[in-house]
Amino acid sequence: MAQVDFYVILGVERSATRDEVSKAYRRLARRYHPGINPGDDEAQAFFTMVTEAYETLRDPARRREYDAHGAREDSPRPAAIEFQGFDFSPGGSGSGTSATFEELFGDAFTLPAARGGSAAGQPERGGDLFGEIALSFEEAVRGTERRLTVTRLDVCGECGGAGRRRAAESRCIGCHGSGTTRRRRGHMVFAMRCTACDGTGRLRFRSCDACRERGVATRDEEIAISVPAGVNDGSRLRIEAKGNAGLRGGQPGDLYIVARVGRHRILRREGRDLHLDLPIAIHEAALGATVEVPTLDGSARLRVPPGTHSGQRFRLRGQGVPAPRGDGARGDLVVAVAVVLPPVADERSKALLREFGRINATDVRKGLFED
Ligand SMILES: [Zn+2]
Ligand SMILES: [Zn+2]
Repeated sequence: MAQVDFYVILGVERSATRDEVSKAYRRLARRYHPGINPGDDEAQAFFTMVTEAYETLRDPARRREYDAHGAREDSPRPAAIEFQGFDFSPGGSGSGTSATFEELFGDAFTLPAARGGSAAGQPERGGDLFGEIALSFEEAVRGTERRLTVTRLDVCGECGGAGRRRAAESRCIGCHGSGTTRRRRGHMVFAMRCTACDGTGRLRFRSCDACRERGVATRDEEIAISVPAGVNDGSRLRIEAKGNAGLRGGQPGDLYIVARVGRHRILRREGRDLHLDLPIAIHEAALGATVEVPTLDGSARLRVPPGTHSGQRFRLRGQGVPAPRGDGARGDLVVAVAVVLPPVADERSKALLREFGRINATDVRKGLFED
């Protein structure tokens, strides 16, 4: 002759610890929260019962009181009530017989809507995911497309994220299938239509096995990633909404991909500029020359003026790397010249160089030892 039993509602033993009570509540709240069951009165009513059971059983004083005397009269009550009669069985407390129906139940009550403050019921944003892609130097500079397989929490395809499915009916755990719950007051017993199942004794939903009621499930998803031209080593690409799915209707997280960019055989990158060490022969340096230099797009011609020294730098505008954001303007190719002596093996070359030394006797180390 008990009313809706809080332990039964939560599905825990009478000896359950507070922690077990909380766990059971969270599991059920995730499933029946109005936030994930908009417009579903059945779920809302059951959520209210579950919340009442939880709030009673988690509080040691209220739990003792409940174990001894049943639910408090100020706790939320289901809406549909039928006066059933009196219970003269022994065990009634004997008090409260003078209370009127209105005093017992009030004349109007509303089911508390989603308890906004309940952390377990709030939508929760999905977590961000992080990954890496390896790009060649050229791919990073020119941009590329990649397909990545990402393991992420996605909205459960079986239940659409609700964590439960409307399918075969099952017995209502709120009323043990009777469709009626009872509330005792003294030796009066009121039978009430069970609001969890609206008096049918059946629940028209069952938990989703695919996601184990979480509403989200892990799955591998192939994601196309468009790598913009100009990304650098360590650049982070954000792919919106491809992190984990949110819970209870929360926003999904984002996917962040860090680019790992390989080296180029001869080009070095500093921001949007490319650097190249260019060997030039001694006669080219001395007399000037037009030499071909490798660029991203193939090659370009660089005019080396007469009298060029090792280490001198020349800038080829617009031959660098495009900016990955904004106007995509390209940096420069910075060419550092290194004067190189070709092998001198034959007698004729040696004679020419001796002659050259005699004619140009300037001391190239002049000033090196002065203060
Ligand atoms: Zn029921
Ligand atoms: Zn599911």
